[in-house]
Amino acid sequence: MRRVTFSRNFTLSLSRTCRCHCKYCAFATHRAHLYAPGEVERLLDDAQRRGAKELLVLTGEKPELNPEVAARLADYGHPDFTSYVAWACERAMERGMLPHTNLGVLTREELSRLREVTASQGLMLESVNAGLVVHQGSPTKHPDLRLDTIRAAGELRIPFTSGILVGIGESPAERVAALEALAELHAQHGHLQEVILQNFVPHPRYYGAEPARIADQAQRGQRAAGEELELPAWANPVSLDDMRLLVSECRRLMPGVGVQIPPNLSDWWLPLVEEGASDLGGLSANGDHISPEHPFPSPHRMRKLLRPRGYALSERLCVYPQYMDPEWLEPGVLDVIKLRYWSFIPRRGSGRREERAIRRELVPAAIAKAREGEPLAEDELTSLFSESRPEAIEDLRQAADELRAELAGDTVTFVVNRNINVSNICTVGCAFCGFGQGRRSPDAYEHSREQFVERIREAVEFGASEICIQSGIHPDWRLEDYEGWLRLAKQTAPQLHLHAYSPMEIDHLAADRPLHEVFARLRDAGLDSTPGTAAEVLHDGVRQRISPNKLPAARWVEIIEASHAAGLRSTVTVMFGHIEEPWELAEHMRVVRGVQERTGGFTEFVPLSFIPFHTLLGRTHGIEEISREENLRHTAVFRLALGGSVRNLQASWVKMGLDAATEALRWGVNDLGGTLMEESISRMAGSEHGVKLDPDDLIGAAHRAGRPAAERGTLYDIRRSHRLPLAA
Ligand code: SF4
Repeated sequence: MRRVTFSRNFTLSLSRTCRCHCKYCAFATHRAHLYAPGEVERLLDDAQRRGAKELLVLTGEKPELNPEVAARLADYGHPDFTSYVAWACERAMERGMLPHTNLGVLTREELSRLREVTASQGLMLESVNAGLVVHQGSPTKHPDLRLDTIRAAGELRIPFTSGILVGIGESPAERVAALEALAELHAQHGHLQEVILQNFVPHPRYYGAEPARIADQAQRGQRAAGEELELPAWANPVSLDDMRLLVSECRRLMPGVGVQIPPNLSDWWLPLVEEGASDLGGLSANGDHISPEHPFPSPHRMRKLLRPRGYALSERLCVYPQYMDPEWLEPGVLDVIKLRYWSFIPRRGSGRREERAIRRELVPAAIAKAREGEPLAEDELTSLFSESRPEAIEDLRQAADELRAELAGDTVTFVVNRNINVSNICTVGCAFCGFGQGRRSPDAYEHSREQFVERIREAVEFGASEICIQSGIHPDWRLEDYEGWLRLAKQTAPQLHLHAYSPMEIDHLAADRPLHEVFARLRDAGLDSTPGTAAEVLHDGVRQRISPNKLPAARWVEIIEASHAAGLRSTVTVMFGHIEEPWELAEHMRVVRGVQERTGGFTEFVPLSFIPFHTLLGRTHGIEEISREENLRHTAVFRLALGGSVRNLQASWVKMGLDAATEALRWGVNDLGGTLMEESISRMAGSEHGVKLDPDDLIGAAHRAGRPAAERGTLYDIRRSHRLPLAA
């Protein structure tokens, strides 16, 4: 799965007055045009109402050269246009929006003034051909001037967007030369976050009309799409192959820089994404002011087109994640990100916020203590979860591997099981979930009794010893329904171990009944053990942020302890790699260890890394999938944090892939989980690691890691051993 990004923005064409006469432009006017402060405030209120995260300020070049604009600016108390733009940006930040300005060619001093109130700035290079017919009468379209501005932005450490126009009379070689010129500046300053490849589309002239109004009407569907116009004599036709070549040149010349394709100017954005374009630009709530008759497709529509092709459409901010630090952003701008959009800040170590000191000096002693199975204090665990130094990470790995060998031996276990997610209808709405659906969603499903029985029979044929039953929180299901599924399973295959119902489902089905009564009835219906899912992170601060409607941490503990008291064993999980902080993971481990000390009921600990792609957190909060390295490092820390309390540590191949799960066998893991056969929860969130493995796949993984394998039952009784093949 690959992310394709866009920014949810609102365009403010603060002034369309322009000193240039570019022949392709329908935006600029040579009369005086400037929004008054009251109008700006009204537009910003509108932007806020429409949920924009970015304010895109678009203007003509040097509007204050027009005497009437200069006079109005003076009336508003601004010595020049940059000062007025800065004022508008400040008002936008007060409303929680991040400004991105594109004012044309600017001096170093002007760029620097805007830097104080913007998250990023931009200027299209357009072309390196200084003699284009379209630019006659446009002094600031000279490539040298534009490159000077882009260079100055780099020197000032301004996250910057640039790009080229394609089809305005340039030759194919000049297009590539323009990209090379940008690549050279980026190599010097590292400030280009994205390059726009914008194809020219002819527009009518809008004499006397307001493009902002036309764009807004078009975006709201209140205006017929623009008719196809003939290419002017100075333009050259552009083909999909021309664009494909430019996408691949961008990627070759500037790896790591986003490649943006406007999705409203042609139908070819989809093939260009497949070619490697990574961004669909700012989808303005109020339309495209440069090409006003071309509304942006809705994110919903684009998402539907991208998803079956293996792409997840996700929001980004106007500033790319790698620039979200004090080197690139002024404190006031960074404050808006920290307050409003902190989940977009990339993970550093384990977390994103820096409000707690990480005591790195604790690490060596904490590793030594954990290696002996002793419990760690919160600040020790926090420092381990935050660790990023390669030598310390290798120490963590070794200690976790040794502890695994001591507690669980060398044998790698797995269970032959089948998951049945009976229904995904759910009323809870967790932001990290791609599985739960409203009853009327086209993706909602509910198995019939016949489908359920059919699945059990398939599992028996496959050789399964366990059925794991979990579903969404179905508004119509009562305790009797949950008992019914267990009874049906036991009637169909009495020999199967029934591992069923997360603490969230138990909370729902229990209603007001005492838990001991609930578990007695479920046991009577056939329940053999419970999954310790819905734990996410057992810290109410995190739970409030990612699943405010879910049961609180204390209720999770109460339910799990009640299940243990009823004689049922359970697993325990953690979901990590989203917005949790290291100290919150430390708290999770403290709670887990505490339960285990009281009940001894946990059979295994299962770290589940967050799959962001088709979830609210991934779509709108900028959360990316945790890297393989981070995943492995966390795995080792989980083993050390458990110490001697929980013997078995599992790697989830559904979340991390079998290859990484095999590597995890060197990081403290002794179990590879189940064959599953059916897995909807991770798959619907965008996991691509499949839904079923054969026992041979898991045995092969263990043997590749140089370890013997064994099929186990749910409670870790060994059913079949698979020794290492003798060396040839
Ligand atoms: S995680 Fe579970 S409770 Fe939350 S929305 Fe998904 S299915 Fe529902």
